[in-house]
Amino acid sequence: MTVELPSKEENFSEWFSTIIDVAEIADFRYPIKGCGIWLAYGFKLRQNVCKTMRKFHDETGHDEMLFPMLIPEDLLRKESDHIKGFEDEVYWITHGGLSPLDVKLALRPTSETVMYPMYALWIRSHADMPIKAYQIVSIFRYETKATKPLIRVREVTTFKEAHTAHSTFEEAEEQVKEAISVYKNIFDSLGIPYLISRRPEWDKFAGSEYSLAFETVVPDGRTLQIGTIHQLGQNFSKAFNMEFETKDGGRDFAYQTCYGISERSVAAVIAAHGDDQGLILPPNVAPLKVVIVPIWYKGKEEEVNEACEKVYNILKESGITVKLDDRDITAGRKFYDWELKGVPIRIEIGPKDVESGVVTFVNRLTKKKETYPLTPTEKLVDKIKEILNEIQDDLYKNAHRKFEEKFLHKANSLDEAQELLEGRNGIVMVPWCGDDECGFQLEDKLGGTILGIPVEEKVTLEGECLTCGREAITFVATSRPY
Ligand SMILES: [Zn+2]
Repeated sequence: MTVELPSKEENFSEWFSTIIDVAEIADFRYPIKGCGIWLAYGFKLRQNVCKTMRKFHDETGHDEMLFPMLIPEDLLRKESDHIKGFEDEVYWITHGGLSPLDVKLALRPTSETVMYPMYALWIRSHADMPIKAYQIVSIFRYETKATKPLIRVREVTTFKEAHTAHSTFEEAEEQVKEAISVYKNIFDSLGIPYLISRRPEWDKFAGSEYSLAFETVVPDGRTLQIGTIHQLGQNFSKAFNMEFETKDGGRDFAYQTCYGISERSVAAVIAAHGDDQGLILPPNVAPLKVVIVPIWYKGKEEEVNEACEKVYNILKESGITVKLDDRDITAGRKFYDWELKGVPIRIEIGPKDVESGVVTFVNRLTKKKETYPLTPTEKLVDKIKEILNEIQDDLYKNAHRKFEEKFLHKANSLDEAQELLEGRNGIVMVPWCGDDECGFQLEDKLGGTILGIPVEEKVTLEGECLTCGREAITFVATSRPY
C-alpha cells in the first residue's frame, strides 16, 4: 500500500500529520488526547536529536542529572508568579491507592520548583557555584487547545530543561549568552532556521526577569516556538532560600537562569526539510544514513547479493548507519518506503553495476543518480561521507534561504502587516513604541501575536508605532503562531 502525500507547501498541516504516521515517527491514537507513542524509527530520530542536545550541553560544562517527577503542592506554590503562570494546566495526584493524600502532588509542568529546593541545600558559598544542570524528561500540561503530534501535546516527552545558579547577576547574564550559543549550535546542526527575540513583558516566563525565544517558521507561514531562555534573577532563589556566603564574607541569594527545548525540535526538523515524497532527514540525525537496495534479475541474484553485503559490511565497519533492504518486495516499493522515511542516500546495486564494478547512489535531496567504483573501498567510504556532508550543508542552506526570503518581512503600515500575516508569510516586523497597551491593541488589530524584539536581527528603525502613531523605539516581530 502506498499513500499519496498531501502537498507540503499547499497543505502543510495535513502533510505533517500524514508523514508522522506513514513514516512511522509516532502514533497518537492512544486514548489520552495529546499523548503518543514514539515508534521505533521516530524514537531513533528523537534519540539522535537528544544526542545533539547532550553534546552541546556537555561540551559547555553542563551536567546531566535526573530529578523527581512529583512536586508537593506547597513547593509548586512557593514562587507566586510562577504558579499563576501554570495553575490552569497542572495535573494533580490526589490519592495514594484509596487514601486521599495529605499534600496533593503535581506532575511536573517544568522543574524549577523540583530542583531549586535541592540547589538551596547544595549552595552554601560562592564556591559551590556555578551549578549548571540539565535533564531530558517528560513534563505534563493539561492542554485545552487542540493538540497536535510533537507540537502541542499533554505529555511533552522530550523536555530538555537546563537550570543554572550563579553568584553574581553578571555571571547569570553571561550564562544567558552561553545558552543562546548552545541553542544556536543545536538548531544549526539540525539545519533549522530561527529568529531570536526578547518576549514582551506580558508574555515572559512566569517568575522570570525576562525571556528570550527561538522561533522558526513552518511551510504554512505559522511560527513555531522551539526554544526559550529565561533570566530568573533572584526571584526563585529568594523564594527557595538559596542564600550563600559571598566572596567578601557577605550574604546574597543566587542568580539563576533556565532554558528549555522539547520534541518541537524534532517537529521542526521534519517541517524544515521534507518534500512531497516524504521526509528528508539531515545526516547529523538521520536514523539511517544509507539504505542499500539490491536490484534482482533472474539468475543474477547471487552476485547482486554478494556485492550488496560487501558494501553493507564496508559501511558498517566505517561507522555509517546502514540498512540492507532484502525484503521480498519490488525494488520500486523499497525506493518509495525509504524516500518516505527520508534516508539521505540510497545505494542501488544490480547485475550491470556488479559487471562494471560500480555502485549507484541516489541523493534523497537532489534525486541525482551517480555511479562510483566499488573499489578501492576507502575511496567509496570517503565518497559517501562527502555526499552526506553535501546533503547536510544543502539542507541547512535551503532552509535558511527560504526562511530569509519567504518568511522574514518588514511592514510600515497596519494594512501591509495585516496582508502579510493573512497571507501566511511568516514573521512580520513592525514599528512599536514599546507601550504594553499599544502592544495588546496591535495584536488585536493584526490578529497575530507579538513574538518580541529581535535580539540579533539588524532591522533599521524608521517609522511610527502602528497603534498610537508615536515614534517607534523598536521593531517587533509578529506572527500567527502554533
Ligand atoms: Zn504606541
